[in-house]
Amino acid sequence: MIRIMPGSFDSISRVASTSLTDVIALHVPIVVGRRASAIIDTGVKPMFTQLRALADDAGIGRAGTPGGLQWILHTHSHHDHIGCNAQMQDAFGSLIAGPGYYAAWHEDFEQHYHEFARSCPDLVPDTPELRAEVLDILDQPRPLDVHLSPGDVIDLGGGVQLEAIDARGHMLAELAYLERSTATLFLGDAITGLDWPIFHSHLDVAAYRATLDRLEALMPARKVTAVQAAHYGRMTPAETLALIERARVYIDDVEAGVLSELAGARRVSLEQVWTGVCTSMGRVREFRALNMVRAHLADLEARGLCRLIGRSEYELR
Ligand SMILES: [Zn+2]
Repeated sequence: MIRIMPGSFDSISRVASTSLTDVIALHVPIVVGRRASAIIDTGVKPMFTQLRALADDAGIGRAGTPGGLQWILHTHSHHDHIGCNAQMQDAFGSLIAGPGYYAAWHEDFEQHYHEFARSCPDLVPDTPELRAEVLDILDQPRPLDVHLSPGDVIDLGGGVQLEAIDARGHMLAELAYLERSTATLFLGDAITGLDWPIFHSHLDVAAYRATLDRLEALMPARKVTAVQAAHYGRMTPAETLALIERARVYIDDVEAGVLSELAGARRVSLEQVWTGVCTSMGRVREFRALNMVRAHLADLEARGLCRLIGRSEYELR
């Protein structure tokens, strides 16, 4: 059940908050400049009324008006981050911008569903329940108008500028945004949920580790004053650094879980590793965990620690 929570604001941003489940919150910030404003991701479909009210309360009008909502800026293209794109674009005339790698997920929700939830179609059947879980929180497909890359800067006027930072790992392409005038760092899922009943998942283990290193270095280098993350809300730099450290331990734990499954028999199937890691770490056995386990097997293979035999069996080297 999606529950609306009270919003919050500071000098340059306003945040709408919702809870997706009992333990998973979702926070959607709007960054306000003198010339234009930007919403960072658009949450889930039922948030539209709340997002619209947040903009109205802040006096944010249509794109093209002073301070208007010129931009929908995406950190990444998961369904719970693009769910109000059509409603927001229709209401405000905003441009939709984000990493180009997943452009198709914005235009074709059938492709979004299959590539996200059914990357191993033999192991994850196409069911009405799974379709509903992925698709029901999306409004309508809207293409990306602008493809963004790390280093790109969106200037909102009055000194408010959002600089795109590489934050890959959770997905194969993801951005964070550093607001330069206040040194506020906006994250999507660059640091994943670590304590959820499901594995939030990451798709590139080495890239996830590199992103954690990059964010850790960025904090003092750019004198970051606050961090606003999609599922964690507002954090101090110290809280963020502690979370980064916890994320490293979590990645190591998942890797140890995968290695332990590989050590349990001479050859192990992807399905066995998936089931075993979910059981040993006490998480729901579902598609995100499968995607993550595959990423870890690919990472171990690239490091020469395991080998793929045939289509989907693995053995330690
Ligand atoms: Zn995500």
